[in-house]
Amino acid sequence: LLDALADQGALAIERVRLVEDLDRAERAAETDRLRQALLTSISHDLRTPLASVLGAASTLRDLDAALPPEAKTELLATIIEESERLNRFIVNLLDMTRLEAGAVAPNLAPQDVAETVDTALRRTQKILAGHRVAVEMAPDLPILQLDPVLFEQVLVNLLDNAAKYAPEGSTVTVRARQDGSQVRIEVLDEGDGLPAGDVERVFDKFYRVRKSDRVRAGTGLGLAISRGFVEAMGGTVTAGNRPDRLGAAFTVTLPVPARTAPKDIAA
Ligand code: ADP
Repeated sequence: LLDALADQGALAIERVRLVEDLDRAERAAETDRLRQALLTSISHDLRTPLASVLGAASTLRDLDAALPPEAKTELLATIIEESERLNRFIVNLLDMTRLEAGAVAPNLAPQDVAETVDTALRRTQKILAGHRVAVEMAPDLPILQLDPVLFEQVLVNLLDNAAKYAPEGSTVTVRARQDGSQVRIEVLDEGDGLPAGDVERVFDKFYRVRKSDRVRAGTGLGLAISRGFVEAMGGTVTAGNRPDRLGAAFTVTLPVPARTAPKDIAA
């Protein structure tokens, strides 16, 4: 009987091992599939702007004398815009890699939220030119311990999205107020908003809500990076839809330092 039990035990262990092997193989296949999809997506995002640059540069070289000045200006603008898009994509990929390697160490320093919002709005002025911008900053915001470079990049990403995904002429609102031991910074738009019940997915790498979003100058990395940056500074970022009207609402919360220096001293 003991022998029979031992045999059964050995069989059971063998079966568990087989299931584990199968699991591992399936996981490896899934990882391979994901890696392949990732490479295809990255190649597409690199090659599309590169093809435009090559096309415009070749036209300039081959038809130089025959081209009217306006056509040349337009081709040069294409080269610059598409190179910027390539550059943005590569910077995003590097940021993502740094985040995943745990290599983003924020340089925290006393920071005035309203000032950083101003800088981010200046940086997005061109892309927001067709929108109305409403800024609603509480007057008594505390000074926070932030990495200005990371925080500014998060705001630029959110404003950039609001400009991209909400129609021209609509209003983009940035507001900030203190809420207990946190400062809440919100970026609200009047676009189509996010798919209800699945809003968290916008923070996934390379995820885009609509197929048509792929053709816009985006990488699908902005929000994943923003979340990584905010969390590195001890905060959170969440996505949602506006309760009162159509449009997306992104909320960043950042901790208020236990003992906050008065604004005028820190400045
Ligand atoms: P992308 O470079 O594509 O903008 P993000 O990571 O910033 O990448 O955003 C991921 C996706 O989330 C976008 O492609 C878009 O589908 C959706 N999204 C982001 N912001 C908004 C917004 N304000 N309104 C509607 N959809 C948005």
